[in-house]
Amino acid sequence: MTTGALIELQANFKALNLSSMARNLEGSLRQARESGIGYDEFLIELTATELQARAENSLNRRIREAKFPLLKPMETFDLSAVPELDLRLFRDLAGGDYIREHRNVIFSGHSGAGKTHMAIALGIEACKNNFRTRFVTCYGLVNELIEARQERMLQRLIQRYVRYDLLILDELGYIPFSKEGSELLFQVLAERYEKGSVMITTNLGFADWTQVFGDPVMTAALLDRLTHKAHIVSCPWDSYRLKQSLKEKGKPRKDNSCK
Ligand code: ADP
Ligand code: MG
Repeated sequence: MTTGALIELQANFKALNLSSMARNLEGSLRQARESGIGYDEFLIELTATELQARAENSLNRRIREAKFPLLKPMETFDLSAVPELDLRLFRDLAGGDYIREHRNVIFSGHSGAGKTHMAIALGIEACKNNFRTRFVTCYGLVNELIEARQERMLQRLIQRYVRYDLLILDELGYIPFSKEGSELLFQVLAERYEKGSVMITTNLGFADWTQVFGDPVMTAALLDRLTHKAHIVSCPWDSYRLKQSLKEKGKPRKDNSCK
C-alpha cells in the first residue's frame, strides 16, 4: 500500500470513529503481508481490534462510573477463608441473572466478614456484564439526597439513582438516619422497587432495622419491598482480618529455627 493510500484509509477510519482500526492498520497490514493471510482474515483481525478496544473502554467507563472505593475483583476474594458461604449462590450472583430479574441481594454479617469486598467483586462482575452499576455507602447516599433537596435537585438525583441497573448500598446500620434521611432513602428504594436491583451490606439482623430507620411502619414497608424476591446471604463467620492475624500468631516463627 502506498503512503498516500495508508494516510487516506487511516483518515477514513478516524472519520468513522474507528480509531483502533486506524491505529492498528499499519501493523496489521505488515503482519498480513508477512503471514500471507487473505483479505477476509485481515478484515476480521482488524475489526476484532476495534471491538476489543470498545469492550475495554466500556468496562473501564462502567467501573469509573460505579465509584467503587477500592477495586477488589473476584480473584482477590479468598473463597477458602469462608467455607460457610453458599458458593453456588455466590457464583450465580457473579453471572448477573439477579440483575436481569430485578432481584435484590442482602449480605448480613459481622464487621470484617468480607461483605463490602464481595459487594465490590460482584459490582465489578456486573460492570463486565455491561450493567450500569453504582456503589455508595448508605450514609453517603443519604447525605447526597439531603443536599439535593436543599438545592431543589432531589427529583433529578432520585431519577439518576433509579436508572442504575445495580445499586450497591454499603454499610446499612452503622449510623442511624435522621427522620428526613430515612424518608429520602425510603423514597429511592421505593422508586427502584421491581425496576432495578439493590445490593445491601449490613451488620444488622432484620429485627434491628427499625433502629436505623426510626419509624417501625416505614421500616416494615421497606423490608417488605427489599426482601421480596431477594437473595439473603448470611455471613455469620468471624472477621477475616481477625482470623488471619490469629493464624499468623499460631504459625511457628521462621527465625526460630536452630542453626
Ligand atoms: P465487611 O464489609 O464485612 O465489614 P470487608 O469486606 O471490609 O468486611 O473486609 C475486611 C477486610 O478483609 C478487607 O480488607 C477485605 O478485603 C478483607 N477480606 C475479607 N474477607 C476476605 C476474603 N475471603 N478474602 C480476601 N480478603 C478478605
Ligand atoms: Mg463493609
